[in-house]
Amino acid sequence: MPTPHKARKRFGQNFLHDARVLHRIAAALDLSPQDHVVEIGPGKGALTRFLLPACRRLDVVEIDRDLVARLEDRFAGHDRLHIHSQDALRFDFAALGCGLKIVGNLPYNISTPLLFHLFGFKDVTDVMVFMLQKEVVERMAAAPGDKRYGRLSVMTQYHCQVEKLFTVKPEAFRPRPKVMSAVVRLHPHRTPPVDVGDYRTFETLVARAFGRRRKTLRNSLRGMVDEETIRACAIDPAARAETLPLDAFARLSRTLCDSVQPATA
Ligand code: SAM
Repeated sequence: MPTPHKARKRFGQNFLHDARVLHRIAAALDLSPQDHVVEIGPGKGALTRFLLPACRRLDVVEIDRDLVARLEDRFAGHDRLHIHSQDALRFDFAALGCGLKIVGNLPYNISTPLLFHLFGFKDVTDVMVFMLQKEVVERMAAAPGDKRYGRLSVMTQYHCQVEKLFTVKPEAFRPRPKVMSAVVRLHPHRTPPVDVGDYRTFETLVARAFGRRRKTLRNSLRGMVDEETIRACAIDPAARAETLPLDAFARLSRTLCDSVQPATA
């Protein structure tokens, strides 16, 4: 018997023990025997156990070395399982190949930076299924005008089609988190839904607009976009970022890129 593992708060450790929830997460990946799956934060292997028999290869990325040692023990002899003792925030998912199905009951304390890191690998990813804080899933899926609509909504929806699947109560975990959780499925867009011109400009624009979300665009974008340019994009400079749909951000970004591009002969 391995010694009991004390959950580490700094690694966002809330272990799932509800078999029905684990089964539903695995089912949301719609696995076939050819699939290459990557699990982020396998912990003690609760979800790993459901995934391993259903795919061709499973890579897991775990930061806690004690848990890595337990996983190596528990899954000794399973040659389709590859355990990476690494930080998922620095992990090069593209090194694993393409057509990946990425899944995890994610550590909630790093969920936003982790999602942004993963968006960088969308070209090698088929689908992602994640357990997150319910509030984060709601922000990812929010529409303009909703108070939850923000930078995470715009950036997630630029990269992926977002599907809220189901909610999960704290009782499904040990220790219990203080918040409700939810499972989301993300299908990366093969072609972006809008043309943003230069991606870096778009990213900066969205971050600036929501960095001061209570301000009007005229104020929040001061120094980056002038009022005339905002108007030329058919956007009211007195509007707030939280009312702006993705295609309006794209129009602004394209206009900005055009205005700084050197004229070509
Ligand atoms: N999958 C397990 C389950 O459902 O019982 C554990 C989920 S727990 C919410 C999050 C897991 O992610 C923990 O095992 C934790 O050690 C791991 N983790 C935290 N930060 C990580 C990081 N930066 N990279 C990889 N794993 C991380």
